[in-house]
Amino acid sequence: MPVGTLASVKGVPQDLLEDLGVQILLGNTYHLYLRPGLETVRGMGGLHGFMSWDRAILTDSGGFQVFSLNELRKVNEEGVTFRSHLDGSSHLFSPESAMEAQIGLGADIIMAFDECTEFPAERARVRGSMELTLRWAKRSKNHFEEHKHRVPWEKPSSAQHSAVSSQLASSAEAAGSSDDESSRIADGGVRATQGLELRSPGRPGAAVPTRTGTLPAAGATQSLFGIVQGGMDLELRRESAERTVEIGFPGYAIGGLSVGEPRDVTREIVESTLQYLPADQPRYLMGVGTPEEIAAYAALGVDMMDCVLPTRAARHGLLFTSVGKISIKQARYANDAGALDPACGCRVCTRYSRAYLRHLYASNEVLAQVLNTVHNLSFYLDTMRRVRHSIRLGEGTGFLSGVSSQPKP
Ligand SMILES: [Zn+2]
Repeated sequence: MPVGTLASVKGVPQDLLEDLGVQILLGNTYHLYLRPGLETVRGMGGLHGFMSWDRAILTDSGGFQVFSLNELRKVNEEGVTFRSHLDGSSHLFSPESAMEAQIGLGADIIMAFDECTEFPAERARVRGSMELTLRWAKRSKNHFEEHKHRVPWEKPSSAQHSAVSSQLASSAEAAGSSDDESSRIADGGVRATQGLELRSPGRPGAAVPTRTGTLPAAGATQSLFGIVQGGMDLELRRESAERTVEIGFPGYAIGGLSVGEPRDVTREIVESTLQYLPADQPRYLMGVGTPEEIAAYAALGVDMMDCVLPTRAARHGLLFTSVGKISIKQARYANDAGALDPACGCRVCTRYSRAYLRHLYASNEVLAQVLNTVHNLSFYLDTMRRVRHSIRLGEGTGFLSGVSSQPKP
């Protein structure tokens, strides 16, 4: 899952993401809650409508983001009080408010509110934190079950609703009829708004974004995933996994990793935790990794991963290729007429030279960030396509040979 923190994969428009074959994006609740704010997004039909993205979206609970605020946060049984990194204002995230926020954002998959345990931590501290996450998981589920019908998919918000209704009223008047179609839309049936070009009342000519692709069936709701914690302790991880599964969720995430622990510890924790999570439900490893790592974790049985690495590295001129990592800023590429990655079929590699990409980066051109991001995303998505292909062919971990670490060229 490419990361679109602020309802945007930095530098890449949505139609391009569709062309690249992105199936699902991640959005960050903490950031979207602060800016533009929940009511704005909810009023636009949730993130799907707001950012004009018909494919799947997952939002995190905000727990990890407030965890990384360090001195700006305070944790108690109720939740986490934190100060906004934007203006210093004080806010509380609790399991209930995190559910409220994620229901309003309307992603397809949302996450239980958890506490990400710091590393390193004493065993007693890790246990206490794990128990808190379990209590929060129950509260998250309870609140979600009670309020899940409020997801802004089913019908346009009141502003949109009245705009639709008045538009329909006038078009019905003009046509001198009120056919079934328009009465269904006036009832707020979301499917019926398909293909309608809605107009915002306040901004003449501005289209109100709507989901134009496959819309969820009437009555459909989001999927709330649970999160396993337990620090770097194998026994606590096992207990956290078993008790989270007991609470019962349609999918499970392994959280609290990539917090500064050695890579072999991450792997050990993932491998041992996976066996306690149902293999016939999505298993999501949060916040990893390099192309080699995502292939390796998929081989262990992980189904979903997200990471800012491909997009963030791209903006710093670090590009993942079939011949290793390339730092495009280096002078050695100044006259290199070759493709960035001869083995990559993306629109960047098939069109531009390393020399041009190096020039764009050195000149601080916006296009450098765009092209670098497009390539890195393509490389990651290709990696996962190969992984899926190998799984389908029953090759097991055979795909690992294609993406294993190779020396820098
Ligand atoms: Zn490429």
